Amino acid sequence: MKYIVITGGVMSGLGKGITAASIGRLLVDMGYKVVPIKIDPYVNIDAGTMNPLQHGEVFVLKDGTEVDLDLGHYERFMGIELTGEHNITTGKIYRNVIQKERAGAYLGQTVQIIPHVTDEIKNWIREVARKKNAEICLIEVGGTVGDIESMPFLEAIRQLRSEEGEENFILVHVTLIPLDTGGEQKTKPTQHSVMKLRELGLQPDVIIGRCKEKLKDSTKKKISLFCDVPVEAVISNEDVEDIYEVPLIFKREGLDKYIAKKLKLEFREEREDWKKLVDKIKNLKDEVSIAIVGKYVEVKDAYLSIKEALKHAGIAVGCKIKCIWVESDELEKFKDVEFDVDGILVPGGFGKRGAEGKIRAIKYAREKNVPFLGICFGFQLSVIEFARNVVGLEDANSTEIEKTLHPVIDLLPEQKNIKELGGTMRLGEVEIEIKLGTLAEKIYKTNKIYERHRHRYEVNPAYIKILEEHGLVFSSFSGNRVETLELPNHKFFFATQFHPEFKSNPLSPSPPFVAFVSAALQFRQESLAKAQKRSSEKLLQ
Ligand code: GLN
Repeated sequence: MKYIVITGGVMSGLGKGITAASIGRLLVDMGYKVVPIKIDPYVNIDAGTMNPLQHGEVFVLKDGTEVDLDLGHYERFMGIELTGEHNITTGKIYRNVIQKERAGAYLGQTVQIIPHVTDEIKNWIREVARKKNAEICLIEVGGTVGDIESMPFLEAIRQLRSEEGEENFILVHVTLIPLDTGGEQKTKPTQHSVMKLRELGLQPDVIIGRCKEKLKDSTKKKISLFCDVPVEAVISNEDVEDIYEVPLIFKREGLDKYIAKKLKLEFREEREDWKKLVDKIKNLKDEVSIAIVGKYVEVKDAYLSIKEALKHAGIAVGCKIKCIWVESDELEKFKDVEFDVDGILVPGGFGKRGAEGKIRAIKYAREKNVPFLGICFGFQLSVIEFARNVVGLEDANSTEIEKTLHPVIDLLPEQKNIKELGGTMRLGEVEIEIKLGTLAEKIYKTNKIYERHRHRYEVNPAYIKILEEHGLVFSSFSGNRVETLELPNHKFFFATQFHPEFKSNPLSPSPPFVAFVSAALQFRQESLAKAQKRSSEKLLQ
């Protein structure tokens, strides 16, 4: 087994996840079987209870594990589907160690960070790599080197290196190369973060310098000299327009060849589809504007998978996506709202704040025939909007928001007695049956689909009949649970209880997103044609 470990220095937010995912892509392109593992040194068991405003979106895996958004990058870049074992947290490791201690598994020993916690970490990594038949195990250590939380993990990595041997191990360290006021590329922060690594007994084999611009040869030489890494292993990772370009930047820098050489792997070039993808992205001509109405819009990472899924659909349809971020709270300040966009998307969400604003956006999309996609909370709010404004149930609402006479959205029965918040929603992939002759069937081109969930509430079965009598179509179900809705006489009005964005990837975009973006493109072309007609009529007058 070969191990590639990725650490980060200087500061967080350097794009270590994208770096790891891009290295993963290069290895996949060489035809190797790669298994990624993300280490999140926080004490939480998983990311499920974390606020997106602090930590970005919570990504949901097929098996229902709620994880850090980096696992989304891995799935999208590498075209794979992961499970909970691919994410290690301090919470999970300590839970295992404490359970073993209570069971008497340590035979009277004093349980310590070294060796018991570090052994638990190494065993976890080796077990996942073995079970998944990996040739290469890619491990990203979250946080920044020097953080107190990551110490046991870096110690475990140090032990792993000496146990596995030099030719089976590579440490890639990602750092920041800032520019000073004179525009000079500064290497001191990198030198310091490498010093921090060395204090922990770890020497980097590769240094990736995140910088506004391409690293100069002189910068590379300096890093090489001070940090004891060959010049060819100092890799420039300058800002790019699109994150999907990063694997190609690494290729240009020879990172794939260097990794193959260091790990004594055969260097192969088996696949070209990523290069074709990036060429396609660079040549997109049209553009559509999509309003994303949510309450976490100030942190763009809170809707990362939505943004990416829109982009993937745009690549498939042939257009760029301009995301217009709309704070749902703001919409509540006005009685009438208006949007100058080609499509409106209301994503997932929780709680009362901003819900009425989202309902206004949905009403606008429905009444003005603007393409609309609702996801999870967005789906539930479209049911409420329809119940209020079409069926006439004025106080229709979700019991998540308010106790009401008409709870059209209500707690799932199995949720009624749940007290604990972590990991207790309806989570993960579920089989869904699509009704014949519906838009859902047209979108998916099949009658059976598998999509990922994350919710506690659902359409109240008592209201299905009355909603359908007024023209709302519930087009797919899992058992007796509603999964999608649509409006037949609308340009495009589709909403899903599940989260299709989690399964979207640039080489295989999510069907509802493709359908939505192509409806938005058509909407744009029709609006342009109308505007042109109006101006030529004016000229004739
Ligand atoms: N808050 C809603 C529920 O729990 C929707 C959740 C979501 O959008 N992910 O059902």
